[in-house]
Amino acid sequence: MAVQTVAGNATTAPVDLGPAAALSCRECGERFELGPLFACASCFGPLEVAYDLPTGSPEELRKRIEAGPDNIWRYAPLLPVPSDVAEKPNINPGFTKLVKADNLARELGVTGGLYVKDDSGNPTHSFKDRVVAIAVEAARAFGFTTLSCSSTGNLAGAVGAAAARAGLRSCVFIPHDLEQGKVVMAAVYGGELVGIEGNYDDVNRFCSELIGDPLGEGWGFVNVNLRPYYGEGSKTLAYEICEQLGWRLPDQIVIPVASGSQLTKIDKGLQELIKLGLVEDRPYKIFGAQAEGCSPVSAAFKAGHDVVRPQKPNTIAKSLAIGNPADGPYVLDIARRTGGAVEDVTDEQVVDAIKLLARTEGIFGETAGGVTLGVTKKLIEAGVIDPTLTTVVVNTGDGLKTLDAVSATSQATATIKPSLDAFRAAGLGTA
Ligand SMILES: *Cc1c(COP(=O)(O)O)cnc(C)c1O
Repeated sequence: MAVQTVAGNATTAPVDLGPAAALSCRECGERFELGPLFACASCFGPLEVAYDLPTGSPEELRKRIEAGPDNIWRYAPLLPVPSDVAEKPNINPGFTKLVKADNLARELGVTGGLYVKDDSGNPTHSFKDRVVAIAVEAARAFGFTTLSCSSTGNLAGAVGAAAARAGLRSCVFIPHDLEQGKVVMAAVYGGELVGIEGNYDDVNRFCSELIGDPLGEGWGFVNVNLRPYYGEGSKTLAYEICEQLGWRLPDQIVIPVASGSQLTKIDKGLQELIKLGLVEDRPYKIFGAQAEGCSPVSAAFKAGHDVVRPQKPNTIAKSLAIGNPADGPYVLDIARRTGGAVEDVTDEQVVDAIKLLARTEGIFGETAGGVTLGVTKKLIEAGVIDPTLTTVVVNTGDGLKTLDAVSATSQATATIKPSLDAFRAAGLGTA
């Protein structure tokens, strides 16, 4: 039997991940060679990718990006991927629409410009395709043959699709009681899908055990032993938002928080754009959004705590139902450093916000989108989000996967016989 290292390393050959130079510890700064590691050997802090970023002029880099493909690979010079990434079989997510939401802005009293970054347009209809596409390249570089994850639903589908396309095996793990749309989307790509009797935090613990077991040998868990690479995919949301605004930072961004990875990496992406001179350096505020039924980060923010106390999730926003968020403390740091906030809304407000977005802009977001817009509305009303400034709301998933949230109140207006008399008698056609 082959020797299994703690991190599940399948190869020791040097790897080509483009500008990625090393892994560095977010707590103590110690550096490690690129590999399937996720925790610092000295202090157990989380690791992140450190880069040799491009050194040319900002104009050159901007032109190079703009000439690239209409997906996240246009930003390959800033990502841990080989330079020929665009030619490999991958799901090629990204460059989703940034919708100027004028109807919604009018309804919410926003005058400074309101935008919805609509990530439901990705290949498996959530932002998770961004992070998985990067993890696939890392899996290939490290010689993994099976792609895996612990998932709140969307990630399982993204991994299934990406593995199918890349010709890898997949075996993904979800809480057993997810929405039907998420289960089917995770199963249809033909890999193994395992429902675990427990919540996401139980699923995650199970996966950590599996990594240390011979059963998990040769497996790349996108959000565990490939997590440092996976996380970098979320930077592309920051790059796209700024490029689509004409290479400009927005003043305020509202982002849903589950593990907190996405929010922290959007901030990392914005910082890189400033450092590279691709956008003008000016202040921006980052706001985190949670559902009241799973609001460990928002509770800590409001209590002024630095540590996040775990909760047992109970909300319809299942994609955000992580009671013990790995990046919670970093979300608190970023919200406080930028002058933002972390807030939560009730399930009822989530449903109202899903319908508000659909009714005003023709965008059907999933429950996570309802959480984000619900929190945006609440913070505008509280005077925390400034309506005179440019605001971007991130819709991270597609409402077709969470139909139950709105099905009770979104039905046919009437059912009639196929005749004009019946239509007239029902008093319809006047809405
Ligand atoms: C996973 C997920 C999130 C949150 O992601 P984190 O990086 O874990 O905070 C947000 N929205 C949707 C739809 C998701 O699936």
